[in-house]
Parts: sequence; C-alpha cells; structure tokens
Amino acid sequence: MSEILFYSTNQKAGKVSFHDALLKGLAPDGGLFMPDSIPVFTRDEIASFSSKEYYEIAFEAAKKFLSGVIAEDELLALVKDAYNYPVPLEKVYEKKYIMRLDQGPTASFKDFAARMMGRLMQYFLKKDNRKMLILTATSGDTGSAIANAFFGLDNINVVVLFPESEVTDRQRKQMTTLHKNVQIIGIDGKFDDCQAMVKKAFNDPELEYLNLSSANSINIGRLVPQSMYYLYAYSRLCDINKGEEIIFSVPSGNFGDLMGGLIALKMGLPVKKFIVATNKNDEVPEYFRTGNYKTIVPSLNCISSAMNVGHPSNMARVVALYGGMMNEHGEVLVQPDMAAMKRDMFTVGIDDDETLEILKMVYDRHNVLLEPHGSVGWAGLRHYFRLAPEDYNTEQVTVCLETAHPAKFPLEIQELLGFDPELPPSLIGLEDKEEKYGRIKTDYNTFKEYLKRNY
Ligand SMILES: *Cc1c(COP(=O)(O)O)cnc(C)c1O
Repeated sequence: MSEILFYSTNQKAGKVSFHDALLKGLAPDGGLFMPDSIPVFTRDEIASFSSKEYYEIAFEAAKKFLSGVIAEDELLALVKDAYNYPVPLEKVYEKKYIMRLDQGPTASFKDFAARMMGRLMQYFLKKDNRKMLILTATSGDTGSAIANAFFGLDNINVVVLFPESEVTDRQRKQMTTLHKNVQIIGIDGKFDDCQAMVKKAFNDPELEYLNLSSANSINIGRLVPQSMYYLYAYSRLCDINKGEEIIFSVPSGNFGDLMGGLIALKMGLPVKKFIVATNKNDEVPEYFRTGNYKTIVPSLNCISSAMNVGHPSNMARVVALYGGMMNEHGEVLVQPDMAAMKRDMFTVGIDDDETLEILKMVYDRHNVLLEPHGSVGWAGLRHYFRLAPEDYNTEQVTVCLETAHPAKFPLEIQELLGFDPELPPSLIGLEDKEEKYGRIKTDYNTFKEYLKRNY
C-alpha cells in the first residue's frame, strides 16, 4: 500500500506527507489539506468491529491512513491512551439512539479529535526535536479540548483566542484554569473574528519564527479521529452482513464532525443518510436548497453557541470530497456534484425556539436529557422523517450525535426543565480553580504584538 498524501483544497500547492500536513495545519495556498485517496474497509473488516473495543476500532481506522508513517505498536499505544473513556449509546426509543460524545476530559466531542491530534503532534515533534506554538480560535469547546489535550507538554505552547460574549462561564473556566504552557485570550468580537485573526497570523511572515500550527478543526489530524465514532456506533447497532444501513444526525457548525462522518462513508460504512442540522447559521442548508453559497457574516448568536459559524472552514473539504472547489472566502469556484451530496445528506437549519422545544420534549417524553447542540440534531431528525416517512420505521437504526454534556449548559436547562444537570467527573471542582486570561480588542495588530511580546 502506498503512502496517502495530502493535497490542498485550493489546489495551488503541492501534495505533502501526513507529517507535514499535521504540523503545518493550513496549506501554503490558504487551502485545507485533504487525503488524495480514501482507503476502504472490506465488509469483513467492518463486521469484525462488532467484537472490538472503541480504541481497537480507532486503531483500525488510523492504521488505514497511517500505515508506513507510524509504527503499528506506537499507533496502538497512542489510540489506547487517547480513548480511555466510554462512548455511551443511549436508547431514546425503538432503534433511535443518541451517542454521548461527552465523556472525555472537557465533556465535548472535540476531545476525540484533540486528544489524538495532540498525541500525533507530540510523536512527530519528539522525533524531529522541534518546538511549536499552537494557535487556535474557539467558539467554546475546541479551545478547552485543545488546551487540555496539549496541557503540560514540554515542546508545545498553546494560545487560544475566544469571543468573550459567546462562551459560557464553564467553557471559559475549562481553559483559563490550566495555566503553564496554555495561554488564553478573550476578544470583544465574534468567533469568526477570532478565526480571521488566527488565519492572518498564519500568513504573516513576521511570525514565522514562532513555528505556528493550528489545532482547529481545519487540522487534518482531527479528520480521521472524527470518523471513528461513526464506525463504532455502526458496530454496536448494525450488522453489515444483513445489509443494515444507519442514519446519523450531526449537529454542525464548522462541519468537521460531519467531514469525519463522510470519511467513514467513503471508507465503506453503510450510511443511509447524514442529517446535517445547523442552527440559524444556515448557509449550508441554504446552499443545498438554492445552489448558491452565501456566508453569514457576522454569524448569528444562537443558543447552540458552538455552532455559531457563518463561514465554516470545513465546507471547502466537503465540496472537495464531491469534486468541487471552494476557496477560503467561501467562493465556489467549481460546483461539486450536488446530486450526490443530496443523496448522502439532508440539511436543515433549526431555530432556537425549536431547539428548546425539542430539548423539553425529549426529556418529558423519553426521560433523556439533551443539551442545545444535541437538540438541534434531534430536531433535524424530526424534519427528515417528515419528508422521508419511508425511513421512519421501527427497524431503522438512527443515531443522533450528542456533542456536549448537558452540564455545560446549566442556565438553559435550569430555565427549561427546572433542575441543574449533574456534573460529569471532568467538570467537578472547576469553580474553585484560579482563572487567568488575557483580554485584547478585536484587532490583528494588537494580537500580533501580544504574540511577539510573549513568545
Ligand atoms: C464544535 C461543536 C459542534 C459543531 O461541530 P463542527 O465540527 O464544528 O461542525 C457541535 N456541538 C458542540 C458541542 C461543539 O463543541
């Protein structure tokens, strides 16, 4: 098997190795890295997952992309260390489940990608004997996942930019109580502003000496880890030898999670449909509806705050996967195969009222507690089943991804249901820790001076 190389979605830069794509983050032409081929599982391989642990399935997926790049025993040790927490599939009714991706150290699904990416970077940096500054923008959960995943590593410093008004107290504290090699900066703008400043820093020759890398959902190191839980869910609930197909609902903001699912699909996982549910930052559902892609700038504030993204970077990858080309400004230069995209995905934008209505309904009716992001996903299912009643039957296995722990949204849940969700172990004791973080204006030069002064 020849080594998989990585091309840029802007198609103006040469292909690079996984090592380079991982450590660079962004391609030199401003595009995102994509694998030049996607390995495929045999039916027997997929069938064998049913008797494997999560980390063993993760290993099988990682091996497909990294064989010849990382020694297998090291890779196995790496995934075993990264995935040391449970991945509960909770039945809502019949064969309709939610998959709780909230049992990692920061109680959001971003732990899955961040923990593996951190360990991969550490592996290569050690081998190269190099240092690196991780620069990342967050709408809440990425930052804490990255900060926690890299916390305490000797050869990596981390700077996280976040919009002060858009993250919850708890999300902020998960980042600002770490210290050591982890610096947190709040700005008075929006997530999109953070992302724009980070992108600019990457292209700034004066900052080259910092050896910057991104750990955002644009980093290729997050893509494969985010395909693993789709494989896992299928392995627990479906039988490929009976030809069973699964439906996933994916609450989406920057479309990294969905990209992971699409990779799993291309690897041969029998997925009938991805329900792609956004909040009212619904540029992608609108694109599917009209064929015109228009970013939403500035992005809208919705209660599913981690999905308040009006210009999702990973759309360039989705478009590339379907044969099109989208640049970093969100301009579609080559239209993708829309018919194929619509075959694989159903997209819908959900407003806050419906998000809250569904959250309450699922709790009242099924005694299952969601939080706003998972609720957007569940609402997406309701829309889909109305339009495709033939898929709404007792036998259809359906999994909605629950991307954060309800305890990360105590105000919303208290107001709606009248109680405080129980904290997961990872969030206990956070209140008493000392917070420390910087504050700057939404201004690139201020940010740049900060970096030059501190590193
Ligand atoms: C980041 C995030 C999402 C959206 O995931 P994308 O990969 O950006 O689409 C959804 N829910 C939560 C809780 C998140 O933190």
